[in-house]
Amino acid sequence: MMVGPGPRSYEQLAAEVIVPAREARAVEVHAGQILQLVDLEGQQVGDLIAYRLSDPTEVFSAGHTVSALAKLVPEVGDELFSNHRRPLLRILHDDVGSHDLIVPCCDPERYARDYGVHNHGSCLASLEAAVLAAGHAWTVRGETAWNVFMNNRHEDGRIVTYEPPHAAGATIDLAVLDDLLVVLSACPQDLSPCNAYAPTAMALRVWEPEG
Ligand SMILES: [Zn+2]
Repeated sequence: MMVGPGPRSYEQLAAEVIVPAREARAVEVHAGQILQLVDLEGQQVGDLIAYRLSDPTEVFSAGHTVSALAKLVPEVGDELFSNHRRPLLRILHDDVGSHDLIVPCCDPERYARDYGVHNHGSCLASLEAAVLAAGHAWTVRGETAWNVFMNNRHEDGRIVTYEPPHAAGATIDLAVLDDLLVVLSACPQDLSPCNAYAPTAMALRVWEPEG
């Protein structure tokens, strides 16, 4: 399946942060801006966490978002909620439409226990490094992450991971509703269909509001 024409452009690009394959990067965004998550090469999953800058104990929460939306996959127009049920982001545009809010981001234990592989890179380690690099000692909790573009299907009560079908340039646009530190991990999972066995780079683009 091919997707749309790729990233839309808004009035003024405020920041662009490349997230190298198997790494994570952070960006500060402010209420009123638009945040784009871009898959540069296709078939890549990103694990996103977000902290409120005014109180970093308040974070994006996948579980609270599932509860607030009463759905497993958020759609265009839906808001994404914090652990205090405050809306942090709203989906404006989505080239892909499959995203996981159920499973925690991959961590060293995932590779050690499930694959017998030690010292494999993980979204948790990447996110922790990116938060530290941004100058913060904030805790990263893998179960709060939003796994964007992850092609998990729910089949008869089971969760089955398929290769993502989306092409290079696939983008999700988010209205920023609060001042946030957003951190995105280009997932290093190369042992499951999650990233079609070939992790690649992503990008974060921040746009100023139009008009
Ligand atoms: Zn991962």
